[in-house]
Amino acid sequence: AKKQGGNKVIVYSEKLLESNIERPKLEARLRKAIENGKVEVYYQPKLTVDLGKIFGMEALVRWNDEEFGFVSPELFISIAEDIGLIHPLWEFVMKEACLQVSKWNLNRSEPLSVSVNFSAHQFQEPCSMVEKVKEVLSESQLSPSNFEIEITESILLNNSTEIVQSLKSLQSMGIAISIDDFGTGYSSLNYLKNLPINTLKIDKSFIQDIHEDYANSEIPEAIINLARSLHLNVIAEGVEKEHQRDFLLSKNCTQMQGYLFSKPLNSEEFERLLQRE
Ligand code: C2E
Ligand code: CA
Ligand code: CA
Repeated sequence: AKKQGGNKVIVYSEKLLESNIERPKLEARLRKAIENGKVEVYYQPKLTVDLGKIFGMEALVRWNDEEFGFVSPELFISIAEDIGLIHPLWEFVMKEACLQVSKWNLNRSEPLSVSVNFSAHQFQEPCSMVEKVKEVLSESQLSPSNFEIEITESILLNNSTEIVQSLKSLQSMGIAISIDDFGTGYSSLNYLKNLPINTLKIDKSFIQDIHEDYANSEIPEAIINLARSLHLNVIAEGVEKEHQRDFLLSKNCTQMQGYLFSKPLNSEEFERLLQRE
């Protein structure tokens, strides 16, 4: 058994879950959980650290199975992709997140902005994806300018004009587009100039490499400079240590997300955090 997120215990090891023995059962339970709305959306705050303010959050899906315990999103998302459930899962997360944040924003002078992770599968039918986003935003009454999508570089490198068009139409509504795990792809950087992108999200592996004496900080620094010269927004994820925060602040990268500030929280916990602000 492995501990995760405080007192929650995973009963089964991930190894066992990945094995062929447990897999069919896991698939069946995941299917049920998605159908019955038993997956949950957690929210990890994003801060403007120099101001000490939360400006938004990333929506992260959680599945706490009665028998298997918390199953890591990386595992169950890849299963959902395999068995054709990534679409309903995505819709669920997006709806839930938009409704929740729209509610929170009613009581705020400065609205929060929520980001949702889009997997490559979401781009198989770009037009209907855009329609679905519009529908969810209008039903939840969340302003498009308070909605952001996180995608990985690989989606853009597809070189599909349909995908680029769909991103452009989202962007023209005011939705921000963020490149997740930035720096871990192996692409040319050429696409950054021509494609609809608002934000580079520095991958947590680079942030974690930053040493106390700021050794190993060359890559995050280069990404910050790149973002600046292309007039893109930049955020660092996986900030765990004070010296990592201090390094980023010294380079004027003020938007951050990570355990140093908060783990992903369920909606009750997040609400309490907002009330303490
Ligand atoms: P990601 O999009 O890169 O999300 C960031 C991951 O880093 C999250 O893991 C988060 O809990 C974790 N994290 C946050 N702060 C820190 C920190 O300071 N240190 C470290 N070591 N980790 C930190 P999580 O929630 O387990 O999600 C893993 C991945 O699963 C995500 O990576 C994302 O690719 C995927 N995922 C999660 N939710 C969704 C979703 O709703 N849809 C899709 N398509 N993918 C999702
Ligand atoms: Ca993400
Ligand atoms: Ca990431």
